Amino acid sequence: MTRDQLEAAIVAELEERPKPPAELRDRLSFAAAVADRLRLATKEAAGEVAGPVFYDLRREQDYRYPGGKPKARIRGGQVVRRSPRDVDGIVLHQTAVEYGLTQRQVDAAGGDKRLALARRGLDVACHAIAFRSGVYAATHPLEVHVNHGNGLNPRSLGLEVDGRYAGLEDDPATAAREDLKTTWGGSPTALSELTVETARAALRWLVEAGRAAGMPISKIWAHRQSSATRRSDPGEALWRAVVLDYAVPVLGLVTEPELVVGDGRAIPRAWDPAGRAGY
Ligand SMILES: [Zn+2]
Repeated sequence: MTRDQLEAAIVAELEERPKPPAELRDRLSFAAAVADRLRLATKEAAGEVAGPVFYDLRREQDYRYPGGKPKARIRGGQVVRRSPRDVDGIVLHQTAVEYGLTQRQVDAAGGDKRLALARRGLDVACHAIAFRSGVYAATHPLEVHVNHGNGLNPRSLGLEVDGRYAGLEDDPATAAREDLKTTWGGSPTALSELTVETARAALRWLVEAGRAAGMPISKIWAHRQSSATRRSDPGEALWRAVVLDYAVPVLGLVTEPELVVGDGRAIPRAWDPAGRAGY
């Protein structure tokens, strides 16, 4: 997109918006969208790789992992679809592994590495996934009951962020000290600016697409809050960068630090001053 096309697109979007925007939330959200586009245009003008790239793979989803285990709730042989009005929040996750590509996966995507990576997200139980390389993908229809967040599944959309992040930034062992049934372990991934930018883009997409589908999305939770074996999910750094510095001030979502579902834990004070003491 050239700078002129970009400016025309922004003006068109300005004209389409109801005016004046009544809520501060709307203005912040719109300002952030304009800033996103300007940054993208600046990068493109400089011949640099553009920002996050989106793949909508919802039609490619087959709802089962390679071994046959379902990624979504199945009832009577059918994938369970929720009523949009029951879905009011997002659960943020870290994948706890770093996703890479085999030559076979690249070949299957016709040599397109970004598409090949996006397709790896089809085997992750979530509605959207953000990869470290700047690719993000929608992997399940939003109304499908995906098995990503335990007791929060009926009312949430799941967002996964690629990488293995420490639960506590000053204690890297929290990336390797979790329940053995999970994939946790190894040294932590450094959280890059591109990963944060991609995760934010994926979150924005989920919120906007969910609301467009009639979902009253207003909240954001950590997987930690609904699972004893996911204490460090998504971890301090992602929680701050994606939730406290973006979802709350820009998208207008609210956190519920005290909320605990099933055997989960509250948000710790190390992640959020409004959280609870201890880890
Ligand atoms: Zn998780």
